[in-house]
Amino acid sequence: MLKINNLHAQIEDGAEILKGINLEIKPGEVHAIMGPNGSGKSTLSSVIAGKEDYEVTDGEIDFEGEDLLEMGADERAHKGIFLSFQYPVEIPGVTVTNFIKTAINETRKAQGLEEMGASEMLKLIRENAEKLGIRKDFLSRSLNEGFSGGEKKRNEIFQMMMLNPKLAILDETDSGLDIDALRIVADGVNAFKNENNAVLVITHYQRLLDYIVPDFVHVLSDGKIIKSGGKELAHELEARGYDWVIEEAAV
Ligand code: ADP
Ligand code: MG
Ligand code: MG
Repeated sequence: MLKINNLHAQIEDGAEILKGINLEIKPGEVHAIMGPNGSGKSTLSSVIAGKEDYEVTDGEIDFEGEDLLEMGADERAHKGIFLSFQYPVEIPGVTVTNFIKTAINETRKAQGLEEMGASEMLKLIRENAEKLGIRKDFLSRSLNEGFSGGEKKRNEIFQMMMLNPKLAILDETDSGLDIDALRIVADGVNAFKNENNAVLVITHYQRLLDYIVPDFVHVLSDGKIIKSGGKELAHELEARGYDWVIEEAAV
């Protein structure tokens, strides 16, 4: 599904952040990227999603046989790549429901499909809201306006479930991710997962991976993946920290 080869990227003033990333994600897989603060985790997710603050200087990203780097962020989203916090804006007067309706129909339009019928849309909203324990009054609130941390999470995961991407990238940058928020994210991901889609969870916290069990865990340090393993690697990192991996990689 996603194949990243020797990816190098820099910020606009020239400092290189990603220094040769290789990563392959197949349908049905859950990958976790862990690593110390400042190692380039959010940069990697931004570069995959096509945010413009970064310049790719070398390497390739292939998504379902197509060159992702040739596409803008919107096109990537329409192809089925979802990045959490892509829509964090507050939009007074636009409800959670109306926002997601518009997003879905824009995606369908870009894919050459007709708008989703009102009853089908309503059914989908009900199903996903139920899975996430979202109540009716939440759906009619203004997008992100006065949302608590947990409500923002819930909305973000709701957007993911509604848009039903092929690859969902969840960058858990929020250091205030409490146990409720962890559960919201994990329940959502576990309900979303199937053999045709894939999830890339980016996190500083091992704890999240107790709820979302990854097939692969990668350690990012100074812009490179320096170690990959199975879910047990996350536990080892929790117990021993990152230094030993960094030392091992330096040998
Ligand atoms: P992580 O998500 O692993 O904590 P980031 O990808 O956010 O790491 O950042 C990696 C490094 O790149 C950090 O040193 C950070 O300060 C720097 N960086 C990231 N984005 C920018 C930017 N837009 N402008 C300047 N520096 C940036
Ligand atoms: Mg950071
Ligand atoms: Mg980050």
